[in-house]
Parts: sequence; structure tokens; C-alpha cells
Amino acid sequence: MSNPTPDQTHASAPRSLGAPRPKRSRSLKFWGTLLAAVPLAGFLSCSLLHQGPYLPPEPLPDTPILDVHCHTAGIGAGGSGCFISESMQSSLRFDVYLDSFGTSVSELETRGDALILQKISKQLQESKHVGGAIILALDGVINAQGELDRSLTEIHVPNEFVETETAKYTNLFWGASVNPKRPDALERLQWAKDHGAKLVKWIPSIMLFDPADASFRPFYEKLVALNMPLLTHAGKEEAFTHAKNELCDPQRLHLPLQLGVTVIVAHIASTGSNQGERDTDRLSRMMGQYTNLFSEISSLTQLNKSGYLKEALIQPEWTGRLLYGTDYPLINTPLVSPYFYPLRLTRRQIRELRSIENPWDRDVALKQALGVPASVFARSAAFFQTW
Ligand SMILES: [Zn+2]
Repeated sequence: MSNPTPDQTHASAPRSLGAPRPKRSRSLKFWGTLLAAVPLAGFLSCSLLHQGPYLPPEPLPDTPILDVHCHTAGIGAGGSGCFISESMQSSLRFDVYLDSFGTSVSELETRGDALILQKISKQLQESKHVGGAIILALDGVINAQGELDRSLTEIHVPNEFVETETAKYTNLFWGASVNPKRPDALERLQWAKDHGAKLVKWIPSIMLFDPADASFRPFYEKLVALNMPLLTHAGKEEAFTHAKNELCDPQRLHLPLQLGVTVIVAHIASTGSNQGERDTDRLSRMMGQYTNLFSEISSLTQLNKSGYLKEALIQPEWTGRLLYGTDYPLINTPLVSPYFYPLRLTRRQIRELRSIENPWDRDVALKQALGVPASVFARSAAFFQTW
């Protein structure tokens, strides 16, 4: 039995004109109604506006998934040869990155930069869905003398370090990075191939060269001869303190594509623009022109890339051309969360996704729930024939 409400009391014993108004009961009722209404309104608007995933979710492939875009970094500890510039070390990003790698400066100083690869391998071993990752080296800026310009390079991860460390684990593969301005660039490509590199990784906007430069023709011909795909960043680069974004215009990639290089443009060239046009549009036009051009879905669930995953899944240009990647460790930063998809995921899904601890399983589950097809998850391993 519930207590009578003020209205019921009112009905049975009408208040005389001179009687005081039941202020307290009325205000309690008002606030009670309001408090009940707010979540209800939120629930109703979410329910009414709920759009569901971009595509109907599919079961994951039976075979393990390969992550084609996974970073490591280092401060030079343990003789790694890695370095991070002063400006990067003093920026807020540095702490966020170390945190997302699950380490700290003092831990790296004690145990060496190789610790990050050990941690990555262990987490991949624990992943239910992802069986391995391609760990990317990162070359720097090359000066007029053909040497590494440490004053202009923000992050350097040498090929030798990544090759040596990944060789210790069966679930780690590696991608070399060679600035084509290096005098010995072709020898470096040959070395990388001979030592099992799966691809060559570039970020032209921070390595400061123009992919359209005709003098790189022998470099591209060597990539074709070695059957080495080129994974290159395109679009706006926001992970570094400065970048020449025009060098990452996808339209600068016609030369390698025409020469037959297999080019994978990272994360559908998301977020940048050149000549008043989105880089993604500049790239999508090229997908129809070249059958040797691919892309991947790393970082597309980030808050600052809203709408790009939908585009990658819905627009026909990308069909059959997308690989799976994470851009690890960015999936561990606050930029990625299922809470950013209240109209695409149910509250229960959001809770379940939040509770997944393994970063790769969480990334796969989020992307699967949003509608990334099984074929995209399966394509990376088939592409690189890792297992
Ligand atoms: Zn990346």
C-alpha cells in the first residue's frame, strides 16, 4: 500500500481558503518528477534516435586477425637507438603516449625500450581475436648531407632495433621505415627485405619529403622488385608537435602507384584537406584508378575522426580494399571509447565493451559492433600471408 499523495488527501478533505498551501509536498513532488523525467527523456531520445550499427555486425573470422598498424617507441634506453625529441618529451602527448604503452620513463630507463615490445607481445598472446601485429619502425628527417637530422626529427625508431626485438616473438612481425632521401635508401630496402620486413612505413609530413619527387623513381622500382608494400600516412598528422600536412596529400602518390607499388594509405586519409578538398575525397577518387591501392581502418574509432568509419564501411570505393589495423597505442588513449557511440550501440553493449581489458579484443569488439565486416578483419593476414 502506498501512502496517499497530496492530491488524494486534497480530494478527500478539501482545503479551506484560509489553510496554508502544502509547499513542501509540492516541491518534493516537482523535483521527484523532474529527476525521474531526466533519465527517462534521455532514454527515450536515445531510443527514438538510435540508429544502430553502420552495417549489420557479422561473426568474426575463424582465423586469427593481424594488426597491420602497430607502433612502438623508445627513449634510447638499453641501447635501442630510439629517440624522442626534447619538444615531444616536453609536450603533453609524451605522458599520454607512455601511459598508453603501459610504461613510464623510469621503467624504460631500468628495463630498456625493448620492454614495450615484450608488453605488446604478451597482450597479443592474451588476445582472443588478434594473433599478431606488424610493429612499425619510424625513420626521421634526412638533411642535405644525407644524414639523420636530429634537430628536426621528433621520433626515431630504427629498423635494426625493431627487427632484432620482433625476432624474439612469434606473434610480432615488423615494418621497416626508410626515408627515400637517404643516400643508401635502396641498400636499406634490400636489408629490410632480407631480414623479413613485411612492408615499408612512411609519414612524409614529419619525415619531410615529397612522395611525388621524380628522383624517388629507383626507390619505387626497388619496392616493386622486392614485392614490398608501402604503408603511408595520408591526411592530417596530429600525433606530432609539427607536420607539413601538404606532403601527405594522397594525390602525391600517383608516381609510386603508376610504377606498380602496392600502396596502403593509412586510415582512409582521415581528417586532412588539401586544395580545399578533403584528403579522403582525394584518395577515394584514386581507388577506382588503381587496383594496387588499399587502405585500412586504424584510428577510425577515435573521437576526432567521427564519421570516417561509417564512410569507410558505406561508400563503395572502399569495398574490398580495407585492412584491419589499430594504430596502437592510440586505442589505449581517451580518444577511443564506446561512450562516443550512444546512437550506434546499446547501453548494454557499451557496458560490455568497456569491461574488455585486452586492448586488441576491445578494439575488435567495438569495430565489429559498429559493423566492420568479417572480410576486413580477415584481409590483413591474407594480404601479408602471416599464417
Ligand atoms: Zn600510426
